[in-house]
Amino acid sequence: MSTRAQQYDAQVLRREQLSPHLVRLCLGGSGLASFESTGIPDEWVGLVVPGQFQSRYYTVRSWRAGELELDIVVHDVGLVTEWASRDIVGDTVVVTEPKGSFAMPPSASWLMLVGDLTAMPAMARIAGTVDLPTRIWAEVPDELAGYLPAGADVTWLEQPGDGESLLASVVESIDWPAGEGYFWMAGESAQMRAIRKHLMRERRLPATAYDVMGYWRGGAQRQPRAVDPGPIWRAGKAAGQSDEEIWAAYDEARGS
Ligand SMILES: Cc1cc2nc3c(=O)[nH]c(=O)nc-3n(C[C@H](O)[C@H](O)[C@H](O)COP(=O)(O)OP(=O)(O)OC[C@H]3O[C@@H](n4cnc5c(N)ncnc54)[C@H](O)[C@@H]3O)c2cc1C
Repeated sequence: MSTRAQQYDAQVLRREQLSPHLVRLCLGGSGLASFESTGIPDEWVGLVVPGQFQSRYYTVRSWRAGELELDIVVHDVGLVTEWASRDIVGDTVVVTEPKGSFAMPPSASWLMLVGDLTAMPAMARIAGTVDLPTRIWAEVPDELAGYLPAGADVTWLEQPGDGESLLASVVESIDWPAGEGYFWMAGESAQMRAIRKHLMRERRLPATAYDVMGYWRGGAQRQPRAVDPGPIWRAGKAAGQSDEEIWAAYDEARGS
């Protein structure tokens, strides 16, 4: 039996500049005919752009009527960044089958979401899906007030600089709501590692009460052969590990 993840060819149908650092791509075409969403609101796909073989991971902002929307952060320099900064309508890309991580316990009575610009697509989708009192902290370089669902309770935080984040210290000073809830966070890996320690050691939360994911790595050039989270994810799931354990193993494998 092959363990190779399903892959789909797709064409770039539209490209829209949502803000100076955020580009929306709408992908479509017959290659996506058998694509199926997991329904998990932070689900992501691997994206391979023309002329490349390495993938980068992007949240499925939406999957509707045969069209897949991805919102791509264009930062200083990067493989997908440079491609997505051009006129790419008509290009053919490859996307992998989606996977999700958000696993809120049914007993949760509130939700907290924290992230940087790369986490905005997931936070917008989660906030638009979950019907619980939700607080959001968003560290973004652009004006994105209309990006999250109307009425969302958001604290906008200024990003200290490209490739930088101060989200860990923000979370350490949050007033935690009473009762049982769920905490979801994504962004720069070193910040996420600090928060995992804080949640485990200071707040003593059970692993089921939070999901913290390193989405990108600051302060270092990417290695030419990046670690693919796919095999780590599958091996972790097969071994019955929690999402937290799997993401911690992924960060470790990347040496962050
Ligand atoms: C599960 C998951 C979901 C994700 N969802 C999204 C999403 O919806 N939208 C999105 O834009 N990103 C998302 N990301 C993050 C995205 O995969 C990374 O930012 C990726 O490295 C970008 O690829 P690139 O080709 O532009 O840059 P790369 O070629 O990977 O990196 C080039 C250089 O840029 C640095 N870098 C990478 N990302 C950033 C950044 N965001 N800001 C500043 N410097 C950076 C690297 O450290 C490296 O030095 C997600 C990641 C994961 C794991």
